[in-house]
Amino acid sequence: MAADPPVFRFAPSPNGLLHLGHAYSALLNADLARAEGGRLLLRLEDIDPARCTPALEAMLLQDLDWLGFAHEGSVRRQSEHFDCYRAALDALVGEGLAYPAFMTRGEIRRHAAAFEEAEGRPWAVDPDGAPLYPGLDRLLSEAERRARIAAGEPFAWRLDMEAALQRLAAPLAFRETGGGEPADVPAEPALWGDVVLARRDTPTSYHLSVVVDDAIQGVTRVVRGRDLLAATSVHRVLQALLGLAVPVYHHHDLILGPDGQKLAKSRGDVSLRALREAGLTPVDIRRMVGLTAEAQATP
Ligand code: GLU
Repeated sequence: MAADPPVFRFAPSPNGLLHLGHAYSALLNADLARAEGGRLLLRLEDIDPARCTPALEAMLLQDLDWLGFAHEGSVRRQSEHFDCYRAALDALVGEGLAYPAFMTRGEIRRHAAAFEEAEGRPWAVDPDGAPLYPGLDRLLSEAERRARIAAGEPFAWRLDMEAALQRLAAPLAFRETGGGEPADVPAEPALWGDVVLARRDTPTSYHLSVVVDDAIQGVTRVVRGRDLLAATSVHRVLQALLGLAVPVYHHHDLILGPDGQKLAKSRGDVSLRALREAGLTPVDIRRMVGLTAEAQATP
């Protein structure tokens, strides 16, 4: 029996205009899918209703269309599947692996600053550079949790990383093809501490929804920017805890701006739309991101 074709996906967030970095990721997914006879899916990671708007989504779809990004089937919008992420969260809560955390981001920052002041050494940061959450809410009694939730205090669900790693016992790794030769990369989830799984205003998190969706969509090949390499360690833990299939990962180089920094919507980096309005063609875009023109040229 023939093996099932590999399944690729491009999963942008419609919270700003696409730039060259997105174009590279989308086109690389499409090229690899084509080269390997694979399927190509599109998922919109629109869990943040404050930043992801229908207007941005419409522009994103137009830009991908213009680029010639041809995905299969309908688009999966994460905002239409909160029940799936809720079920995964409930499973983790039910296993005693997630707990309500009331500390706000500001309180975490103040906690870190007070530590640095008192100890004269830096407070640990996670791989994204954010101060590590100190885990204080893990120590609350069940009665106190219930009372604070009943009083309407906002909270986030956090993964009890230590308990999770104890449960899994064996160290985790993932297959990575982005560094030339395929390699098994050891996961280092402890660097992230007790990551957020859901917040009151966003009923899931990137980490939780990405692993649930990759599994539901049968994704076997995740091709995305190197800036998400460290996050894959968290994804491996969630996959192991939830019994989800594990894709092969390919973290590609990032397209950098003239100042050597990664492109970002928030920095106002030049959008694909602006390049198109300036008269550039999709073939020009392929060249600008270092892909050969051939893959685009066939009708
Ligand atoms: N939605 C993420 C982003 O736009 C990508 C997530 C992924 O590919 O896993 O950066």
